[in-house]
Amino acid sequence: MSATLLVDIGQLVTLRSAGDGPRRGASLSELGIIQDAAVLCIGGKIVSVGTTKDALRDPWLKKNRKKIVEIDCGGRVVLPGFVDSHTHPVFMQPRLVDFEKRISGASYEEIAEAGGGIRSSIDGVRKASKSALTQKVSAVLADLASHGTTTVEAKSGYGLSLESEMKSLEAIRAAAHEWPGTVVPTFLGAHAVPPEYRVHSQERSQQYVDLVCNEMLPVVAKRKLAQFVDVFSDRGAFSAEETAQIFAAAERHHLALRAHVGQLSEMRLGPLLRYQPASLDHMDYVNDADLPALAQTDTVATLVPGANYFLGLSRYPDARRFIAAGVAVALATDYNPGSSPTLSMPMAMSLACTHMKMSPAEAIAAATINGAWAVRLAGSKGSVEAGKDADLAVFEDSDYREVPYWFGANRCVLTIMNGVPSGPLW
Ligand SMILES: [Zn+2]
Repeated sequence: MSATLLVDIGQLVTLRSAGDGPRRGASLSELGIIQDAAVLCIGGKIVSVGTTKDALRDPWLKKNRKKIVEIDCGGRVVLPGFVDSHTHPVFMQPRLVDFEKRISGASYEEIAEAGGGIRSSIDGVRKASKSALTQKVSAVLADLASHGTTTVEAKSGYGLSLESEMKSLEAIRAAAHEWPGTVVPTFLGAHAVPPEYRVHSQERSQQYVDLVCNEMLPVVAKRKLAQFVDVFSDRGAFSAEETAQIFAAAERHHLALRAHVGQLSEMRLGPLLRYQPASLDHMDYVNDADLPALAQTDTVATLVPGANYFLGLSRYPDARRFIAAGVAVALATDYNPGSSPTLSMPMAMSLACTHMKMSPAEAIAAATINGAWAVRLAGSKGSVEAGKDADLAVFEDSDYREVPYWFGANRCVLTIMNGVPSGPLW
């Protein structure tokens, strides 16, 4: 069994347990920092956490030192590996038409007419082979790891036909199999109504919802291709009623739930909370009256400021309002070709600090332990504690606040995923 000992950690951010449930309010700032720390990992699990001095005095460690791989962290900062709880990695091409057209002031419709928009991603996925998609997802996973992410939620959603959605989920599964980190697959057949169903609006939209519920979902469940079902619930996407239909169908198949909500317009949360989703994501537009009910649940509000940044919006999700109300907030990249082409959790955290006024400590908790809650893996991910998976990220920094401070540069020098190290320091 492989054993790794990290020593001489300048600041180890443990995020060790601060009570039950996801972090809320003041507990978001309790990082549980250990100075001059050491972490022992055996067989992919964290076995002990403490100071370097104590670790080097430990009789078992002294006796077995030759068999243990020792990594000197040189006084650097070590965090729990990031849990990126919202990504769309299954696509073939960047959307450069959208990028350039949007800069020049084109509308969504004008971008679509110029051959951009979600349509171009759908065409790309439908035409691609499973192995081509798998290669794309594998490259994304490698890139995520190099930025400190060790657990990632990965959605389908650019196939939007039975065959192409299953192909997308199979690509996620195949890529996950080769990656030492942890992948949480999500079926997002209800990402958009595909072009062939858009002809006669409402009636055809219901036909596509029926396809998702009656044909796609049973295959996803039977083949265990996803743990979560997600719905893009918003103006111009799926209505509250359609979302409820899809949630009810997913529940019948024992799949867990999450949704994109409030990116473009306000939608009341009550009807969705009834289904106990693990996470509601974006949340740019939320009715104040819904916050007390949301705060009573373990449903996480996952904020994705990379999308606001890349779309050039001046408005960001109101993180302070959520935190003040006791809502559990997480941060994620929303990695996707249309609105958030970044794999960097430190970038998302930097935006959370500068544009959403979250403190560096809150941003770290939101990117680790609360991300783990958002994918229902808080029992094994998101903090550095004995018994949890050995998922760690080492940064070229001596103070944790530097992680969101040095924006636009990757300062992660080592990632350990389920005990497997990779990166320049290794
Ligand atoms: Zn998304």
